[in-house]
Amino acid sequence: MNETPEVVVLRLGHRPGRDERMTTHVGLTARALGADRVVFPDNATGSLETVSDITDRFGGPFEAELTDSPRGVVRNWAGEIAHLTMYGLPVQDVEGEIREAHRDQPLLIVVGAEKVPFDVYEEADWNVGVTNQPHSEVAGLAVFLDRLFEGRELEAEWEDADRNVIPQGTGKRVEPVDSDAECGHNR
Ligand code: SAM
Repeated sequence: MNETPEVVVLRLGHRPGRDERMTTHVGLTARALGADRVVFPDNATGSLETVSDITDRFGGPFEAELTDSPRGVVRNWAGEIAHLTMYGLPVQDVEGEIREAHRDQPLLIVVGAEKVPFDVYEEADWNVGVTNQPHSEVAGLAVFLDRLFEGRELEAEWEDADRNVIPQGTGKRVEPVDSDAECGHNR
């Protein structure tokens, strides 16, 4: 998926304590479902560490980074911007247009935590609703990425992992990448 311009997820807002798991899951979902990079506000250091650790163990390419100015990332973005919000246009109506624009333009996907400043609605090229019902930024991001990549992200191959999960009908099996030996175990 690296032949196309990059897809970056920006987490806008992070309330320490309250948003820890949600912010981390935004990063993990961005990685697992095909984005190239996640940018967290600089008070989300725990999320950065967790996502970087998962990338080290389970592979990439994927980058997690902090910014001291999430709003600056939006303002200075050289490419297209999709802001996920329950008030936006239905994803099924705009996904084709966004995919087309992304053929030659980097895409920034903005997900909020608390109330998103109205400027962001104006700076976005698309305000996108994954349904127009309130739910979770993690769910919204997952559906949006899957629509953007039309399911191809599910076939991604991971580089530089130190372990591979071997899919099982029942139980868990994990193999070290640099050895043929199985180290997995069944429950
Ligand atoms: N009123 C907010 C809004 O504008 O969507 C809900 C805040 S919600 C707790 C946090 C984030 O989840 C939002 O900033 C948005 O990115 C995402 N979100 C929630 N519902 C969504 C939906 N139906 N479609 C897309 N994104 C959604």
